[in-house]
Amino acid sequence: MAPVYDLHCHSDQSDGALSPEEVVIRAAERNVTCLALTDHDTINGLARAKQQSERTGINLVAGIEFSSQWMGKNVHIVGLNFDISNSSLQQAVLSQERARESRAEIIATKLEKAGIASALEGAKSYTNGGAVGRPHFARYLVEQGVVSTISQAFKRYLGAGKMGDVKSNWPEIAEVVGWITQAGGTAVLAHPAKYKMTRTKLCLLTEQFADVGGGAIEVVSGKQPVGLAGNLAKIANQFKLAGSSGSDFHVPGQPWQELGCADRLPSTVQPVWDLWSR
Ligand code: MN
Ligand code: MN
Ligand code: MN
Repeated sequence: MAPVYDLHCHSDQSDGALSPEEVVIRAAERNVTCLALTDHDTINGLARAKQQSERTGINLVAGIEFSSQWMGKNVHIVGLNFDISNSSLQQAVLSQERARESRAEIIATKLEKAGIASALEGAKSYTNGGAVGRPHFARYLVEQGVVSTISQAFKRYLGAGKMGDVKSNWPEIAEVVGWITQAGGTAVLAHPAKYKMTRTKLCLLTEQFADVGGGAIEVVSGKQPVGLAGNLAKIANQFKLAGSSGSDFHVPGQPWQELGCADRLPSTVQPVWDLWSR
């Protein structure tokens, strides 16, 4: 049987619902044969996922999803197949974690001024030790009865333009790509269609990403509209980048980003895993 790759997913070490072990087991149940756990700005889950992958008999590739910025816009860069013991990568991860913490503190202060007490502690209680993000604040707002649903929490408090929409000063893409490549890994531009850029702008981003050492773009991210993978494969080829594929799984019950749901890469693009077998 041909291998099945899922090179983008999350555990409760960032904003996913399952533990690293549960993610590995679920991936195997869904016929994934090669998995990368790519939590936001942390490698905390990787050792546990690795141990579980050995028990389960599934291939695990080291992974992370870094936050960065390009032309003032948040852009996510997945790092794959790097050396997790690389000390400058570990330093970089710490600085990202600190940036997330100070952002969470600012959000909590704003919510407290709006009359919502203990927001930081409340949000933290949902994290299992990982970084606090807006989804955790959303759950706290629901629990406190401030709003009745998660989507209301975003609409009124946390979404774009609301008090909890605190911009982080993420590093530029060149810096993040450098962290990954210097640790022997491949930098992958995550879910290009999610940025809602024009094709011209996306090509400019992809070109600059390739120029600073990027290795691949996610040609397939979860269940996509027909034709998108083919278009992204063309962009990958235009800038001599490989293609990657991942579900962006966070929680069970979302079939459009379930583990192993991502389509196969179009045959026109070089798979990112080919870069690793040389
Ligand atoms: Mn996420
Ligand atoms: Mn992302
Ligand atoms: Mn993701």
